[in-house]
Amino acid sequence: MILAAAAREAGVIGAGGAGFPTHVKLARPVEDVIVNGAECEPLLFSDQVVMETMTARVMAGLRLVLADFSGRGVAPRATICVKKKYIKAVAAFRDAIRAEEPIRVLELENVYPSGDEQFLVYEATGRVVPEGGIPPMVNALVMNVGTLVQVADANDGKPVTERMMTVGGEVENPFVAPVPVGTPFDAILKAAKAKIDDYVLLVNGPMMGRITGDTTEVTTKTMGGLFVLPRRQSHVSRMSRSLSTEIRLSKSVCEVCRYCTDFCPRYLLGHGLEPHKVMRVINYDRDLETKTITSAWLCCECGVCDLWACPMFLSPRIIFRQFKKRLAVAGIKNPHAASELTVDHYRKFRGIPTDRLTKRLGLSIYDIRPESMTGGVETGRVRIRLDQHVGAPSAPMVKAGQNVTRGQMIGAIPEGKLGAVYHASIDGKVSQVTDKFITIEQ
Ligand code: SF4
Ligand code: SF4
Repeated sequence: MILAAAAREAGVIGAGGAGFPTHVKLARPVEDVIVNGAECEPLLFSDQVVMETMTARVMAGLRLVLADFSGRGVAPRATICVKKKYIKAVAAFRDAIRAEEPIRVLELENVYPSGDEQFLVYEATGRVVPEGGIPPMVNALVMNVGTLVQVADANDGKPVTERMMTVGGEVENPFVAPVPVGTPFDAILKAAKAKIDDYVLLVNGPMMGRITGDTTEVTTKTMGGLFVLPRRQSHVSRMSRSLSTEIRLSKSVCEVCRYCTDFCPRYLLGHGLEPHKVMRVINYDRDLETKTITSAWLCCECGVCDLWACPMFLSPRIIFRQFKKRLAVAGIKNPHAASELTVDHYRKFRGIPTDRLTKRLGLSIYDIRPESMTGGVETGRVRIRLDQHVGAPSAPMVKAGQNVTRGQMIGAIPEGKLGAVYHASIDGKVSQVTDKFITIEQ
């Protein structure tokens, strides 16, 4: 089976967070394959553990991708991007690369957002992805280390049924371990044991993640971390602010200092995104269709503007997120597509030191690498969402009452749509099927 077909059959989607179906990424060969081992979100250790303990599988996945591309007339090369401070992972990759292979290791500084796809493309190739564009437009492809392990597994006929997660914060037993897809947060908390009663959960990292109080939510193929935080922790309060509060604060205290722009990673790459100007337009209630407002489409929601740059603790990101929804409802698509871009001269000095960022978020006390839990988390019940990926939700292939085995396909890609398939992550009986999820009880 060709590699893209194997990835499709195994339900591989981008494990780094975006969830784009991998078989679609693999469909078009490119010259530069960039391996994302940056793991730049504070508090996460999942990819580090993957890189150190599954180096051979990451390399196997990468070699399969390179062989697949060269078999289709491209001479690909690979850059494994890893932070310099992940000493064990860097050494493991250097040891694994054979002299004749077109693969190199690029050691990154410990800055945020070094795991951003467009950041990595520039660091590895010197090319800038056009505004609103994707890496294949500059002959590059970015693949997370966890995704490459899943590609290697897919080639061996093993579907995606679990993923590595970091569980930490105010818990007695923090850990890094594989967790079955669809595991309820309750089951994870049972294993980790919350130390406090009045808590909320941080899903994924503190920069691009979200806060929830709902412990019946479930894990997905793109979820790398879960953290128990005190409800009154300052970062939690910051992330929980409503849009109306953001707009009210913006109108009263934004001083148009432009620090948000000066640190914006997209602006620094030369994209026409200047958050301070968007804030000015909003503050003066100007028209939705102005060129400045539509530049909100260029925001990758990295959080640098609000959680690092703004001296007034405002959030251009949250306001942009809302404006993107309004623009979509109004049928206004992204009109920005410039490709002749000039990288800002000061970009190299404006990476955000991750340690200082974590400290500023008030989360340094949780920034301790947990032990890896052998065997991983077990659960007697999973609820597998059918919309974990970019594209149309999957169509259920099973009915309530049906027995399934781990690895059995239970969700299909709707005919002619962009999508991904899903598999049972435990053995059991299907107890509920809706168009949004499938529940399996052991
Ligand atoms: S950094 Fe804050 S105060 Fe300054 S322009 Fe941006 S949003 Fe306004
Ligand atoms: S979240 Fe802020 S800093 Fe990040 S891309 Fe958007 S505007 Fe720029």
